[in-house]
Amino acid sequence: MKKVILTGDRPTGRLHVGHYVGSLSERVKLQNSGEYDEIYIMIADAQALTDNAEHPEKVRQNIIQVALDYLACGLDPEKSTLFIQSMVPELTELSFYYMNLVTVSRLQRNPTVKSEIKQRNFEASIPVGFFCYPISQAADITAFKATAVPAGEDQMPMVEQCKEIVHKFNSVYGETLVDPQIVLPSNKACLRLPGIDGKAKMSKSLGNCIYLSDEPEVVKKKVMSMFTDPNHLRVQDPGKVEGNPVFIYLDAFCKDEYFAEFLPEYQNLDELKAHYQRGGLGDVKVKKFLNKVLEAEFAPIRERRKMWETRIPEVYDILKEGTKVARKKAQETLNEVRDAMKINYFDGNDL
Ligand code: ATP
Ligand code: MG
Repeated sequence: MKKVILTGDRPTGRLHVGHYVGSLSERVKLQNSGEYDEIYIMIADAQALTDNAEHPEKVRQNIIQVALDYLACGLDPEKSTLFIQSMVPELTELSFYYMNLVTVSRLQRNPTVKSEIKQRNFEASIPVGFFCYPISQAADITAFKATAVPAGEDQMPMVEQCKEIVHKFNSVYGETLVDPQIVLPSNKACLRLPGIDGKAKMSKSLGNCIYLSDEPEVVKKKVMSMFTDPNHLRVQDPGKVEGNPVFIYLDAFCKDEYFAEFLPEYQNLDELKAHYQRGGLGDVKVKKFLNKVLEAEFAPIRERRKMWETRIPEVYDILKEGTKVARKKAQETLNEVRDAMKINYFDGNDL
C-alpha cells in the first residue's frame, strides 16, 4: 500500500509557532524523509467558512498568507502537493455521502467541536456546516487515501471520527477507503502549545499567538508580556515550571546548544528549571533567553517568507498546479466510492 500524507490548515489567519511545532515541522521532516509516495497539504478554506460565513474576504486573503507560511517553513512544491480545498468539489460530494454514516449524537460527543462551540459562543446557533466539519475532514483524508495525518492533539477526535467512517463505509459498501493514522509530535510540549496569555491553546481565533511572520521586535514584545507563574512575584520566590507557558515554550523550542550560545551559566533546561523552582531566578531573564531561542529558530523562516513575498504570482501558480493534481486524485477516489455505493448509473447499460 502507498504511504500518503494529507493534512492542512484553515486560512483564518497567518500561521503561528503552535502550528509549527504541532504539525508544520513534522510535515517538513516527513516530506524530506523520502518515505512517502504522495504528500497533500490542503488550505482548508471551505472549512474556514463554516465559522466565517460572513467574512469570505478574510478567508480569501489568508489563503496566500498560509501558502507563504508553508513555503517559508520548507514545504517544497516539488515534493508536496499544495492545494485549495474548495477548488476540489469532489470533497463536498464525499462529505454528503458520509453524512449518512454518522449520527448527530456522535458529532455532539466530539470534545474538540464541543470546546470550539463554547469558545465561539455559538450555543443554540451553531451553523450546520460547522457542526459537521469532522465529516468534511473525513472526506478530505479519505479522498487522498491518506495513511498518515501529521497534526496537533486537538485533531485526535477528528481522525477517530474518520476511522469510524472508513470502517462503516467499508463494512456497508465493501473495502474501498483507507484507514488513516494521526502522527502527533513526539515532544509533549508540542501537542498543544498554549497561548502567550496562558490559555490552553495558541489559536488564531483567540488572538494569543506568536506568528511565524512576526518581526523580531514584535516577538520580543509578546515574549516579555507572556503569562508566567502568577505566584512568582519576587526574584527570590520559588517558581512553578509546570503549566508555565515560558517553560513550556522552552520545552518546545530550546536545544542544549542555545545555552552555550546565549546563557552559558546553565548547561541545559533542567538546570534552568531547577534554579527557577528553588527561587532566585527572575522571569525577565528567562524571557530574554526564550526570545533569543525563538529568534534563532524562526529568523531563517522569516527571511524565506520575505523572499516568497516578492514572488506572489509564482505562489498562485504553485497552488493552481497543486489543486489540479489533488483534484485528479480525489476524482479517482470518488469514482471508486460511487462504484462501491452502486450510484454509478451510467457506467453500464442496466439502470
Ligand atoms: P482556528 O482557531 O481558526 O481553528 P487554529 O490556530 O486552531 O485556527 P487550525 O488551522 O485549526 O489552526 O489547525 C491547523 C493545524 O495546526 C492542526 O493540525 C492543529 O492540530 C495544529 N495546531 C493548531 N494550534 C496548535 C497549537 N496551539 N499547538 C499545537 N498544534 C496546533
Ligand atoms: Mg483549529
